[in-house]
Amino acid sequence: MSDAAVLTIDNLTVAYDRHPAVHHISGSFAKGSLTAIAGPNGAGKSTLLKAIIGDIKASQGSVDHALKRAEFGYLPQATDINRRFPISVLETVILGAWKTAGAFGSVTQKDEKRAEEALATVGLSGFEKRAIGALSAGQFQRVLFARLLMQDASVILLDEPFTAIDARTTRDLLDIVTHWHGEGRTVVAVLHDFEQVRAHFPDTLLIARELIAWGPTHQVMSPVNLLRARIMAERWDEASDVCEPAA
Ligand code: ADP
Ligand code: MG
Repeated sequence: MSDAAVLTIDNLTVAYDRHPAVHHISGSFAKGSLTAIAGPNGAGKSTLLKAIIGDIKASQGSVDHALKRAEFGYLPQATDINRRFPISVLETVILGAWKTAGAFGSVTQKDEKRAEEALATVGLSGFEKRAIGALSAGQFQRVLFARLLMQDASVILLDEPFTAIDARTTRDLLDIVTHWHGEGRTVVAVLHDFEQVRAHFPDTLLIARELIAWGPTHQVMSPVNLLRARIMAERWDEASDVCEPAA
């Protein structure tokens, strides 16, 4: 792994029940880079993030980094988050600190103050005692960003953070992403809005199960690459086994 890379992916294949969801991906994320992951539905974007943090095992190849699972700032896709848990906004944000303090670390007044500050940053002062089940989708996403602020991670992975989120919230949260980048954190976000990718993300990783391109956004998001991604996604044989390429 080169000095400038915080995360290196080497020939990574991840399969569900032997059917590869991502196939032979290689490359690295430079320290402090801001990267969009783009690709069609079912392209393996969420699977790639889960493999990076170690929630899913590689079938082949590896992901190389020096971080513990709890050190990743990770925002799962909304469909993977349970909001029925009876917990307040402030408690949800404080959970971001438990990740680093350890489950048995105690919450200090300082933690509580930091959580309140994080809520102020995302525009949710006054919502501390509200149950998370009683928030709009946009407000809940703001809470999850406050939790990431609280966690203070050096590597942050966001899975479709702005899907089904109102325009105002998207703008505010994009500002936070840009701010994280300015602070030198490494940020990776799965996105499907290409305009957003082009406007805010210097680097892009484009996948359709296999890597289409990875590098500067203006080079990666070319019409030819986007067409290749679409064709590869349509041609992919869901039933193919590991290492038997689609016909
Ligand atoms: P994306 O996030 O790009 O839409 P995913 O990584 O969610 O794609 O999914 C990639 C492929 O893996 C899809 O064909 C999907 O159906 C399959 N897949 C995802 N999660 C699972 C799972 N838990 N079990 C079996 N197949 C899965
Ligand atoms: Mg996904």
